[in-house]
Amino acid sequence: MARSGKEYLQALRENPPNLWYKGQKVEDPTTHPVFKGITHALAELYDMQHDPRYRDILTYEEGGKRYAMSLLPARSKEDLARRSAAYKLWADANLGMMGRCPDYLNAVLMAFEQSAEFFGAYADNVRRYVQYVRENDLATTHCLTNPQVNRAKSNLEQPDPYIPLGVVSENEKGIVVRGARMLSTLPTADELLVFPSTLLKEGPGADKYAVAFAIPTNTPGLHFISRESMAVGDSSFDHPLSSRLEEMDCLTVFDDVFVPWERVFIYKDLQRCNTAYAETGALMHMAHQVVVLKNAKTEAFLGLVSLLGETIGADTFPHVQEKIAEIIVYLEAMKGFWARAERDAQPNKYGLVCPDRGALDGARNLYPRLYPRINEIVQQIAASGLITLPSEHDFNSPLAPYLEKFLQSATLPARERVQLFRLAWDMTISGFGARQTLYERFFFGDPVRMYQTLYAVYDKEPYKERIRQYLGWKTQAQPEVVASD
Ligand SMILES: Cc1cc2nc3c(=O)[nH]c(=O)nc-3n(C[C@H](O)[C@H](O)[C@H](O)COP(=O)(O)OP(=O)(O)OC[C@H]3O[C@@H](n4cnc5c(N)ncnc54)[C@H](O)[C@@H]3O)c2cc1C
Repeated sequence: MARSGKEYLQALRENPPNLWYKGQKVEDPTTHPVFKGITHALAELYDMQHDPRYRDILTYEEGGKRYAMSLLPARSKEDLARRSAAYKLWADANLGMMGRCPDYLNAVLMAFEQSAEFFGAYADNVRRYVQYVRENDLATTHCLTNPQVNRAKSNLEQPDPYIPLGVVSENEKGIVVRGARMLSTLPTADELLVFPSTLLKEGPGADKYAVAFAIPTNTPGLHFISRESMAVGDSSFDHPLSSRLEEMDCLTVFDDVFVPWERVFIYKDLQRCNTAYAETGALMHMAHQVVVLKNAKTEAFLGLVSLLGETIGADTFPHVQEKIAEIIVYLEAMKGFWARAERDAQPNKYGLVCPDRGALDGARNLYPRLYPRINEIVQQIAASGLITLPSEHDFNSPLAPYLEKFLQSATLPARERVQLFRLAWDMTISGFGARQTLYERFFFGDPVRMYQTLYAVYDKEPYKERIRQYLGWKTQAQPEVVASD
């Protein structure tokens, strides 16, 4: 059932993840200086589910209970529209800056559940697990890629075959896994999903890497080793995003972790690992959440640059107007991808209605290229305003009169102007902002291989055929070779 923020925080206090920060175990993430911002931001999202203004958008009713809308089975285009309205509401609450809102992985889980037959002997495990997540409204994180040790070599050729996560043993109760995965964003979740990602290659012993399962984040032997925080303080004036939305990213180590059979979804099955996302529709449903999130993020940037330009009078210059219009073009393109993904949705072979893959592939491959340009436009318009940023303390000190005079702007008093530019800084060039750019480049996978996949799966035949026809060739085959001497 849809839970409240208080329930999420309580669960985290009672069962904290095995999370490490700078060599120390994080005993209570809800009060820890680094993790309290994100845990409370997530709690606010859960609370929205109970707010009468949002309840009907964020939750759906079944059997007298209300559940998270992101777990609503997608059986029609109307369901897709309800799902995306919920995605958008949460995304807007954080200006699209929280990549691991629980709805992201809920989209995957819902698709796995509705296409559970794909998992063969493990289908009921999938169904029961997703029902468990739905009943308890759990937050999940996931880790897909193996450690970046030597990308030129296969899993089996690494210095130790258990650098990549692999199965060590099995017994009647479950399996034991060892190794590591990169990288779990949002370790302050209830559950960890260990799902397949990069293409697995056949080979003797390779099947030990072909697994999918889910475990609680406090499972013995599991360790989330966090990166350093980008948030340098908890003033929401000084650090409007990083003080709240530092999701944190972790190397995830499995030191002989036991996974009971009921939590295993794929076992030593390369074929299923390599096809799970596309075949179950999880790929399309993840990308559906993503296209909505990127719409929210682009809208936030459009609002930001419009205010920046207006605030310092820069929007009177034609080149600044052109740059803002460039973001408008990007936003309209993203809206188009979103709309077409829902308009051209089709059921997959299990009856799950999936948004159109072509539109979503367009969006998820284009956005990593647009995002750095959007950041560049913020820098081009805000210029030194992005760095002339006294702190909240300065405004409360004897220096305030200087700041009021020299940092006022065409439309805003100094305090508000600095607040706005601090937001621009945190969206782009602060540690938090820089991580967002890296995130946009890579979170859905290596952009190079994503383009290669698109090239491989896209049906180019109708367009080739048009050219053949235009050239007057008779068939789909190559034109007859005209003998020449
Ligand atoms: C901020 C951030 C948050 C993330 N959050 C998560 C998360 O929550 N969960 C999760 O599972 N993952 C997460 N990721 C990881 C993300 O999935 C990976 O970054 C992405 O899949 C690329 O893998 P990699 O980083 O290991 O890069 P690599 O695969 O090591 O690539 C490094 C370079 O080598 C090239 N390369 C490597 N192998 C090949 C090849 N076979 N062919 C051609 N070129 C190759 C790449 O193109 C790239 O230029 C996150 C990443 C970032 C940056």
